[in-house]
Amino acid sequence: MKSPETPEHPVFSVVIPVWNEQEVLPVLHQRLVQTMDSTGERWEVIFINDGSKDRSLELLIALSQQDARVKVLNFSRNFGHQIAITAGFDYADGDAVIVMDADLQDPPEVLLRMIGKWREGYEVAYAVRTKREGETKFKLWTASAFYRLIRYIADVDIPLDAGDFRLMDRKVVLAMRRLREKNRFMRGLSSWVGFKQIAVEYERAARYAGETKYPFRKMLHLANNAITSFSHVPLQLAMYTGFVFAGIAGLGIVIAIVLRLLDMTL
Ligand code: UDP
Ligand code: MG
Repeated sequence: MKSPETPEHPVFSVVIPVWNEQEVLPVLHQRLVQTMDSTGERWEVIFINDGSKDRSLELLIALSQQDARVKVLNFSRNFGHQIAITAGFDYADGDAVIVMDADLQDPPEVLLRMIGKWREGYEVAYAVRTKREGETKFKLWTASAFYRLIRYIADVDIPLDAGDFRLMDRKVVLAMRRLREKNRFMRGLSSWVGFKQIAVEYERAARYAGETKYPFRKMLHLANNAITSFSHVPLQLAMYTGFVFAGIAGLGIVIAIVLRLLDMTL
């Protein structure tokens, strides 16, 4: 791969994980081209095909043949959203790297506001959802509870209601590349590495087409990774529970001995 110092390296890299998103890809590409061309800078988009079973890969390859700025990474199976983003970071060449979902819930137009913050000198611009369209009450409630719980118990400052939709300066991406944990919570890592961060508020649109790829089971898995990676609370809970039961057992032994001794003296 070419080094980022070459004159033709892109200013912006957009990283997009894709799992069975055939309905959204053509319109996503079109909206992205409109938005990114308006920056007047060189850019690339890296799609990571996360083991799609539909025609996503075929469509992505066709897009890359028409448009040289489109790059495709293809996974051998479904490894999950967080691993897909990680692979995107490993290959992104831009001075700034933007992560967004494929389903247009993260409107490409918000990218321009993030880019504005980067130009002002911020190194991470993360999108915060003020409103979410087209989600079930259950998803809204569980997501909101999760963000509040993780913020309360995490040892790093993870902002409320912020997903993976964000822009990062190359410096931040290089720092993130050095973190190779297998169970990843990318937005937590992005807070953990530090740097000058700013929120960009937006209203999250409904999914353009198709179904959510994050059923409750996957959300629980992500929440579990987030909590165990960024908080000592589960370990402390295990430790204190151990102390309490050891205490009760110790007391039991003392009571048993005392009763036995009383028995013997009576
Ligand atoms: N995705 C992925 N691998 C997965 C699950 C999701 O690459 O195992 C992608 C998906 O195609 C989308 C993004 O990750 O671009 C977020 O998924 P989704 O929009 O379904 O999540 P939601 O917005 O419902 O939380
Ligand atoms: Mg979505």
